[in-house]
Amino acid sequence: MQEKYDYIIIGGGVVGCMIARWLSRYEGKVLLIEKEADVGMGCSSANTAIVHAGYDPLPGSLKARMNVKGNAMWDTLAGELNFAFERRGDYVVAIGDDELPLVHKLMDQGKKNGVPGMIMIDGPEMRAREKNINPETSGALWASTGGICDPFQITVAAGENAVMNGAKVLLNTAFQDFIMEGKRIIGVRTNRGDFLGRWVINSAGIYSDEVMHKAGVRPEFIIKPRKGEYYIFDRADVSIDNVLFPVPSAKGKGILVTTTLHENTIAGPNGTIIEDKEDTSTTKEGLEEVAAGALKLVPSLNLRYSIANFVGLRPMGNGPCKTPGVVYNNDYIIEIPEEVQGLVNLGGIESPGLTSAPAIAEEVVDMLRDAGENFVVKKDWDPIRPGRPRFRNMSHKDRQLLVEMDPRFGQVICRCENITEGEIIAEIHAPIPAQTYDAIKRRTWLGTGRCQGGFDMTRVVTILSRELGISPLEVTKRGTGSEYLFRQTKQVEG
Ligand SMILES: Cc1cc2nc3c(=O)[nH]c(=O)nc-3n(C[C@H](O)[C@H](O)[C@H](O)COP(=O)(O)OP(=O)(O)OC[C@H]3O[C@@H](n4cnc5c(N)ncnc54)[C@H](O)[C@@H]3O)c2cc1C
Repeated sequence: MQEKYDYIIIGGGVVGCMIARWLSRYEGKVLLIEKEADVGMGCSSANTAIVHAGYDPLPGSLKARMNVKGNAMWDTLAGELNFAFERRGDYVVAIGDDELPLVHKLMDQGKKNGVPGMIMIDGPEMRAREKNINPETSGALWASTGGICDPFQITVAAGENAVMNGAKVLLNTAFQDFIMEGKRIIGVRTNRGDFLGRWVINSAGIYSDEVMHKAGVRPEFIIKPRKGEYYIFDRADVSIDNVLFPVPSAKGKGILVTTTLHENTIAGPNGTIIEDKEDTSTTKEGLEEVAAGALKLVPSLNLRYSIANFVGLRPMGNGPCKTPGVVYNNDYIIEIPEEVQGLVNLGGIESPGLTSAPAIAEEVVDMLRDAGENFVVKKDWDPIRPGRPRFRNMSHKDRQLLVEMDPRFGQVICRCENITEGEIIAEIHAPIPAQTYDAIKRRTWLGTGRCQGGFDMTRVVTILSRELGISPLEVTKRGTGSEYLFRQTKQVEG
């Protein structure tokens, strides 16, 4: 028999998981389907991890409203979901006098968007605040509400809180088509069978255009991936203390140099429009462009200390802004379309989509309420998702207590990042179980140091195999097709 839900969410990125978390507060059955082996493997896993202040989106756009509203929700969210978040502010830096008017323009735009806590600072002050900045800097916009976060942690934490409150998350489950009754959507077909739902929420990121087209909605809407390439630097060798944006260009916010929550410096992204939605390869030209942009801001940056590169694909859409008088063709789509019944349709959720995710989730709930949903808060709804111990952040005394309680926290599996067996096992048995190497990496930060997994990988394969009760041959890096091991090298008979 087909399972029946009130709300089916397509896509387990930060937006889908946040919507699941928001909906799980109310009576009703919530199902989230994700085609990959883990949540947060799309755009939400490869971005700059900045909680944007909101001076960048065009005034009047939905992007601007979601950005500013979303930004203000982060402190409460971080407290409830127990993820790390630092509101340390960000800078948009003008190099030379020619760039200064653009910074003033951003300041004006920020004021129109309702961004609090922005000031202009002059060149000497900027040089005093960031010792590595280009000495040619003529001034900067300082936005105190900017922040840094770990997007994986947030996606997982929101998804887990949804599961704790009764939502179901099905991984490796790909939406294929809608089940329709006339003009009403009554469910979804997937590679793992059919699921019936009163409402379906399209939160499929870069594939959201293809999903909405299956319902006959917005045939003119297309998503073009815009590739962003990055450098990650060894934290021992490169240390930038701030979030440093250049002045924006026609290509977007520009190539920034920033510290991260994990204390690595990163530089990127560029913005190359491509055709292939799965092309996450780095290119020589792209990395050269990123290097040039980064060196313009921080000339002393030594590219020799790069330990990894990565790529994120922005789901850039052609959604028109709905505000009268505002001409803008890359706005967010968040709507209940008239063409069909039973669909909440999202599209073009590119940057600042991470920042905006909680505001988008609230917008979806408000739209459903306006459409007649009678939301009743569950009596036992729990907004708190407890954090799990992070050995490397603990005092010596707390480490000792933890190891006394569970000796597996005394077994260090990743030496660069100091991640223990106890932490890995906790993630494998969490509300959204980490079942691949990358799922553990994203949750614990294991394998991200100088050796890039060289030491821990075989040990993690052994732990995953043991804890999941599967053969080591079945353990994967990121889902089916990425197995580490192919056969035993010495077949022992008998
Ligand atoms: C280079 C870059 C830098 C960025 N920097 C920032 C930043 O600093 N700050 C900020 O606020 N924002 C930033 N963003 C934007 C932010 O990352 C995105 O807006 C946000 O992650 C979008 O989340 P999402 O859940 O909509 O999409 P995704 O994370 O892509 O999630 C969509 C999910 O849907 C799943 N899916 C797709 N098709 C199907 C299907 N058929 N069936 C089931 N599941 C499906 C995918 O596997 C995926 O997991 C950046 C983006 C990029 C690419």
